[in-house]
This record gives sequence, structure tokens and C-alpha cells, in this order.
Amino acid sequence: MFIVIIEKFFSTFKIPDIVLLILSIVSLFILILSFHKTPHAYSYWRKILGLFVLLFTTTFIYFVIDKYVSRLPDPIIPYILYILLFTIFLGVRIGVLLSIITIFLIEYYLYEPRYIFGITHHPLNIVFISFGLMSGVAIGHEIRKHQQKIEKHSQDLDLLVKAKDQFTAIAVHELKTPLTAISLYSQMLDKQNKNETASKTVQKSIQTITRETGKLTYMINDLLDFSRFQRNKFQLNAEVFNLADLCKERIAIAKTLFPHHIFILRQYVKNTAIYGDRIAIDRVITNLLTNAGKYSFPKSTIIVTLYKRYNSFIICVKDKGVGIDKNHLDKIFEPFYQVESGKKGLGLGLHIAKSIIELHNGKIWAESKIDKGTAFYIRLPVNFQKS
Ligand code: ADP
Repeated sequence: MFIVIIEKFFSTFKIPDIVLLILSIVSLFILILSFHKTPHAYSYWRKILGLFVLLFTTTFIYFVIDKYVSRLPDPIIPYILYILLFTIFLGVRIGVLLSIITIFLIEYYLYEPRYIFGITHHPLNIVFISFGLMSGVAIGHEIRKHQQKIEKHSQDLDLLVKAKDQFTAIAVHELKTPLTAISLYSQMLDKQNKNETASKTVQKSIQTITRETGKLTYMINDLLDFSRFQRNKFQLNAEVFNLADLCKERIAIAKTLFPHHIFILRQYVKNTAIYGDRIAIDRVITNLLTNAGKYSFPKSTIIVTLYKRYNSFIICVKDKGVGIDKNHLDKIFEPFYQVESGKKGLGLGLHIAKSIIELHNGKIWAESKIDKGTAFYIRLPVNFQKS
């Protein structure tokens, strides 16, 4: 069948048919060549060339089928769609230019009698095609305008987000410097007052200052890290360290913060050397232990379990506290998300924890039952590969 069509074509072809065939092949060839030279780049000229290929080859195929296989219906609908696409991608000028070329192509090749520009023999057809194609241009223009508006809005939004991130980074950084000084001096005064005989009120005031600056420093560090993650500026400094030792250290500190809770470490693996960012993983474990203390009751037990699964360590921090409703469970890792609980915080800790663990190619998740307690799990590869 294919051979028959080719034979028929070459036995009855006229010069314009070959011109159209050559035009299709040459434009296709240039297009392929341009992709070969600079792959992936969608330049303006490449788009125009691509659309010309589309127009010439479809006209040619349509023409051959219509002439040698069987009569086809009027091709105006697909052509209107083409013009619509041309206008959306390349603007009104190209849309109008291609419409004019299309009118000639249709007129010259596809309407009987062929090879004659047909204004003299069916003027209504010309009016009909022109009207159809120009409506394509008009609709395409409107769609393009909306598209450009959306693009502009999204660019403005990007700029705003960048400005906000920069503002947060600078503001938080500036806040941190004086806070560090306050924190240092209040700790010094606290130590001194324990030895000397300052009045009870002074001692209590200094203790309050020390505690509150500690909380403030914690929050500011959260904001700093959050801003770093937003700007992709958070970098891991990986080293080999002992994960069990880190857990023990953190549990000892958590005991001083929550002296009425009972902390237990269950270690089911002997060698706990891991390659990762010690300070970052420290932040995650601290956050989980602090939350476990914050959202459970004095005298309740907090169990930290450490074991190995395949090539990863699993750390589980389990409390017997208020629990988290299942509707909130997958949202608690989103930034600034807090379940109504009356406890103060920024709602950033778990988001930062998730970002840190994912940078280590690990995973963090939670299981919880309301009023029964919550278990947070971290899976950390023993030897993560930086991606
Ligand atoms: P923050 O504790 O500063 O509010 P986080 O990101 O650490 O922020 O936690 C987000 C929310 O998840 C908390 O507000 C709390 O409602 C809930 N949550 C976290 N840990 C626990 C836990 N162990 N038990 C119950 N709720 C928790």
C-alpha cells in the first residue's frame, strides 16, 4: 500500500508537491541538527522551526492521503488548533504569519482545483478559513496574555519569597549576636550566685533570665536553620561518631531539663559508629527528647531504643504523653505546624528534623495514639552517600 502510494506520487507528481516535500524534509533536518548541537535548549527560533515542520509535514501527509488514498474532510479544525498553539507559544505576529501561510497551503494544495490560488473560484472558502484561523489567533492571544500574567505573578512571588528569606536570615543573625552575650553573662552570674550569698530574689531572677535566654537561643537556632534550608544553604559536615554515645549525652541533658521524667535507653546493637553530621543529628535527637518531655507528664517514662535494620540504624523515642490525633500526624513535619496543646514553640523543630534526616538519605516518621503516647522513629544509613 505504502509503495503503491509512493509509486503513484512519483508518477503523477507536480513540481509544487516536490517543493512541499523538500520543505518538510529540510526544516525537519535543520531542527534535528539544531537539537544535536545544543540539546535541551528551547530557543525562539527552534520553536518556530518546529512549528513549521509540523505545518509542512502535516499538510504534505494530508495532501498525499487526500489525493492518492481517499478524499478527506475539510482540514480546517486541525489547522485552527495549530494556529492557536503557534499564537500561545510564539505570539500574535507569528500566529498571523503562519495563518497566511496556512491559508495558501490549504488553498493551493487541498482545495479543488489544486495548484491554483483560489480567490477566483471559491472566495467564500477563503473567507471561512481566514475567519477560522484569525479566531485561533485571537483566542491564542488571550490565553498567552493570561499565561504571561501568571508567569509574572509567579516571578513576583519568587522575588518576594527570596526577600523574605533574606530578611529572616539577616534579622535572625542580628538577634543572635546580642543574645549570645546575654546568655553567656547570665550563665556566669548564675554560677557566681550559687557560691555567694545573693538574695533569693536576685538568684531567682538570674535563673529565669538564664532559662528564658536558653529558650530564645533554641528558637533563634530553629529559625536560622529553617532559613538555611529554605535557601538551600544548609550543609552537612559529616564525620564518623558514636551514635549510642550521642544518645546517652542527650538523655543526660534531657534528665536535667525534665527531672521528674524517667528516661531509659535500650541499646540492641554493639557497634554504633555512624558517618553523618554529628551536630545536626544531635539537634534531631534533642528535639525529639524535648518534645517527648514537653508533651508527656512528670513521672512518666520516655524510652529511647537504638537498633540496626539492614544497613541503617533505627532510633525510636517513645513517650506516654498526650499523643497526636491521626489527622495531625502527617502534618506535624510541615513548617510552623502545631497541634493545639497550649505548649509554646515555633512548630519548626520537626520540620528541621525531617530536613536533616532526609539530607542523610534517611527517614523520620511518627506513630501515635491519643492519650496513650507517641513514638518517633528515625532511620539513618550507617554510611550515607551525599547526593
Ligand atoms: P514545637 O514543639 O516547637 O511546637 P515541633 O515541630 O517540634 O514544634 O512539633 C510540632 C507539633 O507536633 C507540636 O506543636 C506538637 O503539637 C506535636 N508534637 C511533637 N512531638 C510530640 C509528642 N512527642 N507528643 C505529642 N505531640 C507532639
